[in-house]
Amino acid sequence: MRCKYCYNKTIKSGYRYNTRGKVQRYKCKSCNKKSSNYGRYTYRMRNRRWKILEAIKLRKQGLSYAEIASKLGEISRQSVFRWMKKQ
Ligand SMILES: [Zn+2]
Repeated sequence: MRCKYCYNKTIKSGYRYNTRGKVQRYKCKSCNKKSSNYGRYTYRMRNRRWKILEAIKLRKQGLSYAEIASKLGEISRQSVFRWMKKQ
């Protein structure tokens, strides 16, 4: 498990509990930030991925960044714009 902030090695640091049960927590040895191991894809990430794909589709349909952002909710116009530039 690598630190998601600086990609250095992490050490186990207890557990945290959420609705899905016990989650191993990790502490980064170099930046001291804590992260949890939710597996490779968390719900949030999947959700985000879906939104990116949806945003691209809507953009192709000719919608503006503001329209896409308001349609998908939770995301800002800036992030839609950033995704587009990556394509
Ligand atoms: Zn770190």
